[in-house]
Amino acid sequence: MDIFEALRHYFGYNSFRNNQEEIIRHITQGHDALVLMPTGGGKSICYQIPALTMPGTAIVVSPLISLMKDQVETLQANGIEAEALNSGNDPSADLVIRRRCLQGSIKLLYISPEKLLSEIDYLLSHIHISLFAIDEAHCISQWGHDFRPEYTQLGILREKFPKTPIMALTATADKITRHDIIEQLNLHDAREFISSFDRPNLSLSVKRGYKAAEKMHFILNFIKARPLEAGIIYCLSRKTTEKVAEDLRKKGIHAAPYHAGLSNLERSQTQEMFKNDQLLVVCATIAFGMGIDKSNVRWVIHYNMPKSIESFYQEIGRAGRDGAPADTILFYSLADIVQLSEFARQSGQQDINMDKLKRMREYAESNVCRRRILLNYFSEQTDHDCGNCDICENPPQRFEGTRHVQMALSAVKRTDEQIRISTIVEILKGMRSPTVVRHQYDQLKTFGVGKDISSSDWQDYLLQMLQMGFIEIAYNEGNKVRITDIGNDVLYGRKEAMLCVIDHSTQEEPRRKPKLRLEIPSITIPGLPPTTGIEDPRLFEALRNLRSTCANEEGFPPYIVFTDKVLHALATIKPTSLEQFGNISGIGEHKKQKYGNRFVEVIKKYV
Ligand code: ADP
Ligand code: ZN
Repeated sequence: MDIFEALRHYFGYNSFRNNQEEIIRHITQGHDALVLMPTGGGKSICYQIPALTMPGTAIVVSPLISLMKDQVETLQANGIEAEALNSGNDPSADLVIRRRCLQGSIKLLYISPEKLLSEIDYLLSHIHISLFAIDEAHCISQWGHDFRPEYTQLGILREKFPKTPIMALTATADKITRHDIIEQLNLHDAREFISSFDRPNLSLSVKRGYKAAEKMHFILNFIKARPLEAGIIYCLSRKTTEKVAEDLRKKGIHAAPYHAGLSNLERSQTQEMFKNDQLLVVCATIAFGMGIDKSNVRWVIHYNMPKSIESFYQEIGRAGRDGAPADTILFYSLADIVQLSEFARQSGQQDINMDKLKRMREYAESNVCRRRILLNYFSEQTDHDCGNCDICENPPQRFEGTRHVQMALSAVKRTDEQIRISTIVEILKGMRSPTVVRHQYDQLKTFGVGKDISSSDWQDYLLQMLQMGFIEIAYNEGNKVRITDIGNDVLYGRKEAMLCVIDHSTQEEPRRKPKLRLEIPSITIPGLPPTTGIEDPRLFEALRNLRSTCANEEGFPPYIVFTDKVLHALATIKPTSLEQFGNISGIGEHKKQKYGNRFVEVIKKYV
């Protein structure tokens, strides 16, 4: 079978994406490679197709049992001989797998790094190995964010198997890490394949300055508009994950917290239920995600701002891995910035971490297309706006805000720059708080000059002033506010200041715009009229139910039976014969035979 036949037969896809074909050819010719692709970019196929078309067994090193399980199930569901060797197996299962390896009947063997090292002179030296694939290869580097000491010994592979191609794959690696990976694995003349980091199916949106109650209101509306869709809410602290999950549950939404303080059992139960669509919302700290390959996560909300663009991109990357549209929302506030700066200062790497935070803020505070900023951060320039972020859809409105800025700055000035943001607001609003009274700020000329503007709007204007560089926060001096040189220019009337009109809508997020509808493959299917391109939502629901039934029968998560993308294509194209069914992108031979008739029966009722 050639590589195109394998792609069609096993995975049901008609063409390769980006540089998949080039990578696959490079490996099948026996060379080493480093593959950098974003999450959901399609890394797996880069070693799975060579594994299927080359003689022997491909060895795939993977750091987590849950990831291996997911991959093996996905392959088995496509009729491919794949197994995993790890500490989670019982000895008798291990024995069967080993025997099958020796007989040469397994095409892909997933293995943990520990197991690989202990088998290197035993099982591995007795089987014909087609290639090694090192997944999550950044784990080898101390520079990466997920260092795993077991990975550092993998360098021995090149020595023991001088002729077998090695492929390292990762979704996150800067230049130093990439260099480190190649060096530590002793790769020979490895070619680096770097794909675009763009994930056009993810919408990007930022909400600033929301209070807790407003966030909750927004989130509730957001979830209600997507009743059957799974999503993740990332929070900064364990306590917040529990509080948010609790508040959602009170409103009848099935949500659970996930953080490092819960028992292993609780965590794995939450993860399993989420994978199986039995739990729709997980409120998590960053600990959640690495072991999740669930392809139908439809949205990600950041309840607090993340500490860097790398973390942010990795976390939103967990949405929409199937390529169907998915939404991401980032909330951020002054309080987040103050707290994250505090963390950065205490981190022991203050300069680096403050800089990362600054770049993250630039994203959140941007007035230009957000995707351009993200791609730019990963050294990728584009010449057009994306059309799928809040800035592109609603460019910010501005007004002449010099007077507002002067009011706030004059309050700061008259206290000799001794106050924090919260006290500025109290002075402007004319509130006799303990701090105000203690320092007799109620005697200032500015006391109460801004009482017609709400406190939350003042917070927002102050945040904008920070973004525009009119003020700074002295993080090492109790977060007191300082006026900058350009701030003084505005204060003394030498410069004007434009402010953004505040949008406090916690209204229901509008549903995705039709222009973001999935691109449905343009193949002509024999016997079917050209597709109208319009999906039947009732049929989609019926197909989703059937998918759940099949998943239950087989003990697989639903997204392994078919991805959301396949269901959307079915609900749009509506194939009514087995042959037409098999022509849908993402349905290979095995799934066509296994599920075709049942799905076609349902579709016929909606034609
Ligand atoms: P990664 O490992 O890079 O996160 P995956 O390998 O899981 O990504 O691929 C993400 C999704 O894209 C999967 O649903 C996969 O089947 C799909 N995919 C990969 N390659 C192609 C292709 N050539 N055509 C269509 N879909 C593809
Ligand atoms: Zn944009």
